[in-house]
Amino acid sequence: MAEDTRTSGSEHAVYLALGSNVGDRKRHLQCALRALEKKGARIVLKSDLYSSKPYGYEDQGDFYNMAVGVLTSLPPFSLLQTLKEVERECGRNPTFRWGPREIDIDIIFFGNLVLSDVELTVPHPDFRERDFVLRPLMDIGRMIVDPLTEKTVEELYGLLTKDTCVNLGSLDAEEGVSE
Ligand code: ADP
Ligand code: MG
Repeated sequence: MAEDTRTSGSEHAVYLALGSNVGDRKRHLQCALRALEKKGARIVLKSDLYSSKPYGYEDQGDFYNMAVGVLTSLPPFSLLQTLKEVERECGRNPTFRWGPREIDIDIIFFGNLVLSDVELTVPHPDFRERDFVLRPLMDIGRMIVDPLTEKTVEELYGLLTKDTCVNLGSLDAEEGVSE
């Protein structure tokens, strides 16, 4: 937790990946973005909305995914707690790994921090294999360098063997169309 103390007080540039595949998927994402702002994660970059095929456990509905860049003075473990609160507030029910979920929010990058803890691994351990993380991230951070592999998001995206993402435009535009 030393990193928490060292970095508190200044703002960190953090990239989050959001996903939903149960119920009103757009509403869950909108709920999460609003709640993040209220709890001290200022959204400064927002990707388009994508739909993607489920990963790991495939017998479930398609996901809606997006990525955001936030500025926050919350240290890493506080941010993780905040994300879990936001997930609960926006309707997440307990499920299993890779299972269906109303809302999932993962920390992909926390500045250049590299951390491996039972509670929190940063950069996110699986993001390099995930089209539904890398495709939205390409919108807002293609030049970000992964501190572990030293590859850019664009290079990692180029290494994917499949991309199931379909661009649905901006979440806000989608909202306008449907309401
Ligand atoms: P999934 O791995 O499918 O996203 P959960 O959202 O239920 O599953 O997360 C399981 C646990 O993963 C969380 O309780 C959290 O402590 C841990 N975790 C580890 N690293 C991260 C990270 N970078 N971002 C979010 N959660 C993480
Ligand atoms: Mg998660």
